[in-house]
Amino acid sequence: MKKIILIFGVIALSFSCKNESKAEAISEPVETENPQFSIVIHGGAGTIKKENMTPEKEAAYQQKLEEAIRVGYDILKNGGTSLDAVEKTINVLEDSPLFNAGKGAVFTHEGFNEHDASIMDGKTLNAGASAGTKTVKHPINLARAIMEDSPHVMLSGKGAEIFATEQDLEIVDPSYFYTERRFKSLERAKEKDIIEQDHDGDTPKKIASYYDDDIKDYKMGTVGCAALDKNGNLAAGTSTGGMTNKRWGRIGDSPIIGAGTYANNNTCAVSSTGWGEYFIRGMVAYDISALMEYKELSLAEASKEVIQNKLTKLGGTGGIIAIDKNGNMVMEFNTPGMYRATMNDKGELYVGMFKD
Ligand code: ASP
Repeated sequence: MKKIILIFGVIALSFSCKNESKAEAISEPVETENPQFSIVIHGGAGTIKKENMTPEKEAAYQQKLEEAIRVGYDILKNGGTSLDAVEKTINVLEDSPLFNAGKGAVFTHEGFNEHDASIMDGKTLNAGASAGTKTVKHPINLARAIMEDSPHVMLSGKGAEIFATEQDLEIVDPSYFYTERRFKSLERAKEKDIIEQDHDGDTPKKIASYYDDDIKDYKMGTVGCAALDKNGNLAAGTSTGGMTNKRWGRIGDSPIIGAGTYANNNTCAVSSTGWGEYFIRGMVAYDISALMEYKELSLAEASKEVIQNKLTKLGGTGGIIAIDKNGNMVMEFNTPGMYRATMNDKGELYVGMFKD
C-alpha cells in the first residue's frame, strides 16, 4: 500500500491512505523547514464523506489528485515557474471527468457546459481570467493567455473564444464536455427546482440546487492549485464549470481575482472552491492575503478566520487551498470534505478527501 506522509506543524505523521480520513486538525498548516518549493491543490469541496464513497471511487480520486500534483511538483523540482506548475497541474484535472472543470464540467440550465477560470502571478500581480466559454478545452490556458497576451484581465463568452482561437489554444466541439453523470445531475436539479416552483407557485429563488441529497453527491468539484517556486515566486489558479443548473449567464467566484484566485509574493497564493456567490461577497482569497498584510496574521490564522468565521457567518460553504511565501500550506474548509493534496520539496505527498 502506498505510503503518504502528512506533516502538520512540526509533527510528522506517517500513515496509509486508508487511515488518511482519520487525520485530525485538517485546518492546521503543513510546514516544512525553509522549503525550496511547495505545491497544494484542490478538486472541490462539499459533501464528500467516506460512507458515500466506494473504494473504487476513492482510489480513482486519490490516483488523479496524485497524478496532477506530481506534474506540478516535477516542474518546480526542475526549476520551473510556479505559473507553469499551476497551469499544467490544473490541465490534468481539467482532462479528468472526475472534477467539475474542463471535461467533467457541470451543465447549465440550458444544457451547456460553461467554463470559468483564472490565474494570478504573485511576482507581478498580473492576472488573467475567462468566463462563460463553451469550446475552450483548457480554460486555465485561456486565462493565462489573457494575462500574458492581451491588455485585459478578464474576457468572457464569444469574445474570449475568438481570442482563444487567435492564440491557437485547443478548441473542441461543445459535445466534448458531455458526461452522463453531470447530465443526470442537471436533470435532478431541474426536477427539484420545478417542485419548489409548484410549491410556492412562484419563480424559484434559488439559481441552482446546491447539494444533491439523493445521491449524497456534490455537484461542484472545481479545481485549483497554488505553488511556490525555487525563485520565491507564488502563483495560483482555479478552473470550474460553475454550479449545476446555473442560468442567465451566471458567473461564480472562480474567475474573479480576489474571490476565487489571488497571489502576491508578499503574502500568499490562494485558490477557492465552494458556493461562489458567497466567495465573491466575502472577497475570500484577497481577504486572506489582506489579513496577512495588514494584521500580520499567519496564513493558517488568516485562512481560519476567513473560512471558519467570516464565510461561515455569511452562510457560505466551501474552502480554500493556499501557500505562503515561506512554503507553508493550508487546506481550510467548512464542508464535510474537500479533495486536496500537497507536496513539499522533499517529495512528501499528502492526499486527503474527508474531514475526519
Ligand atoms: N466556486 C464555484 C462556483 O461557484 C463552484 C465550486 O467551487 O464548486 O462557480
